[in-house]
Formats: sequence, structure tokens, C-alpha cells
Amino acid sequence: MRDWNVTSELDELHAQGLWRELRPLEEVNGVIVKREGRELINFSSNDYLGLACSEELRQALVEGVSKYGGGSGASRLVCGTHRVHMDLEEALADFKRTEAALCFSSGFAVALGTIPALMGSGDTILLDKLCHASLVDAARLSGAVIRVFPHNHLEKLSRLLGTATGRVLIVTESIFSMDGDAAALREIVELKEKHGAWLLLDEAHAVGVLGPQGRGLAAALGLENRIELHMGTLSKSLGLSGGYLAASRQVIDLLINRARSFIYSTSPPPHVAHAAAKMLQLLRGEHGDSLRFRLRSNVTSLSQRMEAVGLSQQYTPAAGIVPFIVGDERAAVVVSERLFEAGYLVPAIRFPTVARGKARLRISPTALQPTQKVVGMFNIMLDIIKSSS
Ligand SMILES: *Cc1c(COP(=O)(O)O)cnc(C)c1O
Repeated sequence: MRDWNVTSELDELHAQGLWRELRPLEEVNGVIVKREGRELINFSSNDYLGLACSEELRQALVEGVSKYGGGSGASRLVCGTHRVHMDLEEALADFKRTEAALCFSSGFAVALGTIPALMGSGDTILLDKLCHASLVDAARLSGAVIRVFPHNHLEKLSRLLGTATGRVLIVTESIFSMDGDAAALREIVELKEKHGAWLLLDEAHAVGVLGPQGRGLAAALGLENRIELHMGTLSKSLGLSGGYLAASRQVIDLLINRARSFIYSTSPPPHVAHAAAKMLQLLRGEHGDSLRFRLRSNVTSLSQRMEAVGLSQQYTPAAGIVPFIVGDERAAVVVSERLFEAGYLVPAIRFPTVARGKARLRISPTALQPTQKVVGMFNIMLDIIKSSS
């Protein structure tokens, strides 16, 4: 039997610079947050368009609450399916140009429900090395053989496709959550078609941000109708909480019957579904376009500053994630702490979220920060790094 020595596990985390703890925000007012009594400009949120605190979202929620109250009361197949859930699913299918869509209580639950519902022992899942934990865990849960290909490595993927058995599913993100770069989507789609595999594309960080109407990377590249499984979340640019899978009617029918995180979990609160449908409409329209424009100009200013000082890293300047790779875990934490003292919330991302020795500051500009604050933060970050090396 293994010892219950929790103390030594905790000590080990401290020793490796991998200790994490919960630090609550005391106030949130759009992009300004308060933590430990200090007002900070937030560069750590996935609320890329700044909708989470918007007047429009508050109103939609209030409206939803007064109509539907709080929780849905049951799981979807029992009596937890309200008209608003179906309306939202229709709107999501329209958004993703698929026949149907299905809502889950989180993006994590989408992965855990979908992959094991479609894949099993004897099948093969090909995962990009940098895929999100939810995709990795879902693949493990399915019992299929898992083969991991190095990030965006098409030759390796092609070789793996050549030897894979059973049903074959490729799983990748469109914009990678900790690197901000894009999948080699066109090539991946071509490879999968050549081999008769399916593709699950997780657009968590691209929806709302990229493509016409914010429909994501697949839409930006005109590849939507060549992808079988479109995964997304309501928790990022839509400013709420929950996830969805969009696919053919048949696949969605199969998920309704097989996806355990869908079947055995209380359905998302109807007022959240109501607000999500409203936010989706807003995000697709002109207001969404103007927010995307502001986000893009913030990211562009940051990119230009980085290039001007000779730092060019791999990320997609059109999306909202700009990593600044420091390497050493403790050093990344020190930079983050110093930025905190200077009034900026920029998180240090470490193992196990990213590989060991690849610790980084994950800067996520949103539509809400004044551009000069984005550049100001970056200049301070450079000073901190210079003075500490
Ligand atoms: C955030 C995220 C998820 C999980 O979505 P939640 O709605 O937060 O559970 C899944 N995949 C990726 C790539 C993500 O970044």
C-alpha cells in the first residue's frame, strides 16, 4: 500500500515551484478586478470580448431569472429539457452550420461525454500533444488506443493514420489555449479525409474571436462542413458557463442516448441558456464585430511591441492569447508577482498545465483594456525581466 503522506506531497510541490493556491477576486468590474485589496487590470481572463460583465448580459440574465427562476430541476432526459435549451441548440447549430447541437453543463463535460460515447476499445484516438486536459481525460475514459502526435506534426499524424485500427478520431484544438497558435487545420482535414478518419475540433478559444461572425477557425478557413465534431464552450467569449457539441443530427441523437455527462447531470439552468442565446446573437452581429475589432487592435499593439524588441513567438495574432515564455517555473511566478505589485493581473502558467521548463506568462488581452495599458503592461514586464536576469 502507498503511504498517506500528504505533507510530503505538498512539500514537494513547494520545492519545485509548482505550488498553487486559490486567490479570490474581491471585486470584478469589467477588466478592473480587485485582489488582496489591490486594483488590477485583468490580463488573465478568457472573456475575450468583455461580455461577462456587460450590461447586455446582465439584462439577459435578469430577464431569464424572472422567467425561469434558478435550476432546471432535473437532467435533460427526465424533465430538465426546457424550450430555451432547444432554442439555444438550434441557434448553436445555425452558428456552426451543422444539423444539430447539444448543450452540456461545461466544456469539460462535452469532452467527457462525447469521446467515450463514440469511441471504444479497438478504436484509435490521435491527439495533438498540446490538447486540453478535458480531451486527454476523455480519450483515456473511452478505452480506445491513444496515440499522441507532437504539436501540429503532420508527418507523424500521417504515419499514425496509416497504422490506426478501428474507428479513427483525430482530436485537436483550433486555437491552443496556452500557446495561442492555430492548428494546421486545412492539412489535418485533408489527411483525415484521405484516411476516412473523423475530426473533433475544440474551438474553445476561437469562437467569438475568429472568423465571420466569430464562428471560429474552421469558418475562417471555409472548412466547417468538412469537420464532423465541433466542440465549444459558452464559458469563454460568450461570458457565461456551459459547453456544446455541434454535429450531424444522427451524431447528436447518439450522444443524447450515450453521453454519460449529458444523461446523468442536471441540465444547465434555463436562465443561462436564455442568456447564452442572447449573447450568441450579439456576438454574431455588428456589436460583436466592433468588440472583435477592439480585441484585435489590442493584440496587434502587443505583437508589434514584442516584435520591436526582437521577441517573436509562435501565436496567432488574430486570437486573444499571447504567451510570453520564461522557462523556469519560479522565475515565471516572480514576474507575475511583480506585475501584480505594479497593478496588472497576468498569470504564470506552469507544469502540469504546460510542459516542465516551459513556464510562461499568459497574456490575454480583451476588447476592454485601453490599448496604452496593454503596451504599458508589456513595457513593465520587460523591465522586470531585464532587471532580474
Ligand atoms: C476551457 C477549455 C475547455 C473546458 O471548457 P469549460 O467550459 O471551461 O469546462 C475545453 N477545451 C479547451 C481547449 C479549453 O480551453
